[in-house]
Amino acid sequence: MTLSKDQFIRDFKDTLHEEQLIKVSDATPTELFAALAKVIRKYYTPLWLERNRSLTANKEKIAYYFSIEFLPGRMLETNLLNLGILDVVKEGFAELGVDFENVKNAEHDMALGNGGLGRLAAAFMDSLATTGYPGFGNGLRYRYGLFKQKIIDGYQVELPDDWFGSLGNVWEIRKEHDAVDVRLFGDVYLEQNQEGNLVPTYQNSQVLRAVPYDVPQIGFQNDTINNLRLWDVEIPEDQETLYPSLESRRAIQDITAILYPDDSTLEGKQLRLIQEYFMTSAGLQTIIKHYLKQGTPLEDIYKKVSVHINDTHPAVAPAEFMRLLVDDYGLEWDAAWKATVNTMSYTNHTIMSEALEKWDAELFKKVLPRVYQIILEIDNRFVAELGKAGYDAHLVNNTRIVKDDQIHMANLAIIGGHSVNGVAKLHTELLKEDTLRSFYKLYPEKFNNKTNGIVPRRWTQIAAPELSSAIDQFIGDDWRSHIHSLGGLETYLDDQQALETFYQVKKDAKERLANYIKETTGFQVSTDAIFDVQVKRLHAYKRQLLNLLHIIKLYLDLKDNPDKDMVPRVFIFGAKAAPGYHFAKSVIKVINELANLINNDDSLQGKLHLFFLENYNVSLAELIIPAADVSEQISLASKEASGTSNMKFMMTGAITLATLDGANIEIKDEVGDDNIVIFGMDKDAVYDHYRLNDYHSRDLYENDPIIHRVIDSFVNGTIPNIQSEGMEIYEALIQHNDEYFLLEDFHSYVKAQEKIGRLYRDKKKWARISLTNIAKSHKFTADDTIEQYAKEIWELKK
Ligand SMILES: *Cc1c(COP(=O)(O)O)cnc(C)c1O
Repeated sequence: MTLSKDQFIRDFKDTLHEEQLIKVSDATPTELFAALAKVIRKYYTPLWLERNRSLTANKEKIAYYFSIEFLPGRMLETNLLNLGILDVVKEGFAELGVDFENVKNAEHDMALGNGGLGRLAAAFMDSLATTGYPGFGNGLRYRYGLFKQKIIDGYQVELPDDWFGSLGNVWEIRKEHDAVDVRLFGDVYLEQNQEGNLVPTYQNSQVLRAVPYDVPQIGFQNDTINNLRLWDVEIPEDQETLYPSLESRRAIQDITAILYPDDSTLEGKQLRLIQEYFMTSAGLQTIIKHYLKQGTPLEDIYKKVSVHINDTHPAVAPAEFMRLLVDDYGLEWDAAWKATVNTMSYTNHTIMSEALEKWDAELFKKVLPRVYQIILEIDNRFVAELGKAGYDAHLVNNTRIVKDDQIHMANLAIIGGHSVNGVAKLHTELLKEDTLRSFYKLYPEKFNNKTNGIVPRRWTQIAAPELSSAIDQFIGDDWRSHIHSLGGLETYLDDQQALETFYQVKKDAKERLANYIKETTGFQVSTDAIFDVQVKRLHAYKRQLLNLLHIIKLYLDLKDNPDKDMVPRVFIFGAKAAPGYHFAKSVIKVINELANLINNDDSLQGKLHLFFLENYNVSLAELIIPAADVSEQISLASKEASGTSNMKFMMTGAITLATLDGANIEIKDEVGDDNIVIFGMDKDAVYDHYRLNDYHSRDLYENDPIIHRVIDSFVNGTIPNIQSEGMEIYEALIQHNDEYFLLEDFHSYVKAQEKIGRLYRDKKKWARISLTNIAKSHKFTADDTIEQYAKEIWELKK
């Protein structure tokens, strides 16, 4: 849209004066933010209305992305950027004497997700709008987002994330007219109706009202706005008397109160099952209603609708869709099944089969009695069909949905859909040959890869403004709307001035982070040091502990030899641990105690610093990632499905220090061996250990004096205040045989770190590698990932 600075200033002042009765100079940042959001809403509302009108009028096919998590972070700046008015607003604020940064920081992160999975869903919303495809999100409107992390005495403490604050969600619109009812619990009987069909009769079930709130997803400067629809729960008016007490009402509100942690040990959580069903049922009901307004037959719905199942949390979708089509709309089973399979598609996010979601059949039957019957029917027909086709019992048992009194949600998603995709090349290969091997035999045509991506605009134009200006300076600003133009930077790989400029840009970003570190921890760090960063969820497979082992080694080396010649290093961690994940929380405690020890030891002469920055979220990522020299992507090969922070770091010029895992492999393929530092076992070596059962961490510990000394520092008092945590880690590594093979990869990792040190000393070489990474990073734009989903899975038109 076009907007002049003067017009904006008038609109902004009017809103503040007329709607909030306040002058600019008296307003708090929150009041300024509220007024700005109102002004922006007025600007985009006509576009949003027009989009919804034209999609309905043209009967376009729409993809619905079902995800239990969406992690967009802040929306203000990205909305302004995408509307094309970010600069005008910043200039207007400058004239009004308002600090844009303060106003921006008044917005709470929308943190309705744990980490990569939720961030990917949010990225896809942005990219769907930006590429112009009709793609809507479907999720839950959690009252509290992912917990707020405080570090107290080195321990993680979780506080509620009250993201509504005093303003609520300024971007959402309540759509009461689209509310639907969702039924839970009770008994169900099949009875013949007048036409002789069997229809379910419900007794004693609970009926809840699902009310949608739509959050606009604004495309990048293309006048396209899609919806992210988040569902909230209410008590239907005619049922109010059933909930006379505050407690009984609170129990209902609890359904959308909290986001569960991404902890694979979520067993038997009835509330989680209700959450999953609630958003899935409500979403599917409104999709069918919307479709039927077109006046085309319901059995053809897949020609106008795709439903995407992001990981297994919405995987009840095929069964619920069958229930709606057969019970509520009277379709024959076979026609309904064809429509269902053609409508549904599924993304798998893990190779760890223990992390594939299963529900206890008894619990499922209690909460969703009719859906349970439908799942049994789907399962019976599936088994019968395979039997007839002559498949062996082993394969049938590996693929059926109901077995051992459990419902296997991934199996339902695969059988009930036409597409299964992994999220990086290696991940998809491992699904085919290992985790989902039986399914791959059965349905090879359903399998495909869609490597994850990131929203380039957020990680450059918003998070790295200095970098963005520097890019403009050399290749012009076309890359801001056509990210593949970034490749033009390759022309400058040997241009001294360019290398110096980009080196300086990184320094500026490091300066900002150094200021933040100073403010939050009191320590001053030098921007001449290597900023070595590992930010991501705390998980054993991601191996933050391997990083820590190396830091301990550096510390011990420096204590032995304080004059050791080394490039100063600042190690930075950011990570939340699932509240019930004991081991992960112990790692956080040890990082913090080691940080205390190191940062306060003057004998280290400023060569080593270590920080754990609390409450890692999207906004903190935007501060940290552009300031990184080194991107730590050190998961055990085969365990990280894709990773996306690896891509964000690459795009802002960090050098990746990585195992051959997930999308790290594809990053390496882009930049070449000289522009990435790879170490450790590859997935074949890891799988060899599994097959031969020949890994013995105790041997490595006992026969290797360096490893021995590093490990002992967990239990011999070298690091203070970690008696129980140090012991827990020691036991995991030695008694429990080091599940993620840290000790085997240790020396290779140390060598890789030494190589980083050598490269960094050669400033020019480092700058060239960094610029190469930026220049090649456009490969990982989520816009292209979405193009592939849209063409190959959803068959959408723009
Ligand atoms: C990108 C992102 C992630 C994902 O990080 P990985 O390293 O890919 O696991 C997690 N959390 C936040 C806040 C992010 O921005």
